[in-house]
Amino acid sequence: MKEKLMLLIKIQECDSQLVKLSAKKKTLPEDIEKLTRDFGAFEEGIKANKTKYDELKARHSESESKIKKINEGIVKTKERMLEVKNNKEYQAMLKEIETAETSRGEVETGIISILDELDRLSVLVKKDDDVLKERKTQYEQEKKTVEDELNAVDSDAADWEQKRNELQKNIPEDLMVRYEKVKKRNRGIGVTSVWKSVCNGCHMNIPPQLYNEVQRSEELFSCPNCNRIIYFQDMEKPA
Ligand SMILES: [Zn+2]
Repeated sequence: MKEKLMLLIKIQECDSQLVKLSAKKKTLPEDIEKLTRDFGAFEEGIKANKTKYDELKARHSESESKIKKINEGIVKTKERMLEVKNNKEYQAMLKEIETAETSRGEVETGIISILDELDRLSVLVKKDDDVLKERKTQYEQEKKTVEDELNAVDSDAADWEQKRNELQKNIPEDLMVRYEKVKKRNRGIGVTSVWKSVCNGCHMNIPPQLYNEVQRSEELFSCPNCNRIIYFQDMEKPA
């Protein structure tokens, strides 16, 4: 193939890689943010059982202190009973103790169901904990992979940049100017292949005569539609 054209195609490869790398520099940090956001949401969601467990724990100790208070009340009432003078007062105190014992019974029943629920939840909390650990490991691995990729972007770009500079030395300046101008107007693609009369840059047909010339002549031609520098490539032949 024409030597200058070969060089241009290689330059185009470098430029396309550089565009890809600079896109990566923008999207990879966004990917990391998304991973972190997703993991945060997962972590938040899986907390439900633990939150319930903690609430019940608090209710449990509240109930325990209620019982303690009731017991202290009963002891005090019993002490006062020893000094009571008349029967009416004595009966009232007995009634007081009876009421206190009833409400203590209710609190105790409540504690039993709280303890049952705590048992049930503690199994779930343990399970959630394992799931969360596993998900966290997965999140950290995925994040590391993307971070590694991001860290490689700059050195990869430097490599392509250097390769490009080497190639450019062997391309006549006017051709470089032509390539850059066309590339700028065509979303980063200045040179493209043509196959079966179709320009692979703009996907339009080129005239048959031009198609013949592109295949035969040593000259550099442009696509009449998109202006990109075109070269013939047999897409059915392995490169
Ligand atoms: Zn075209």
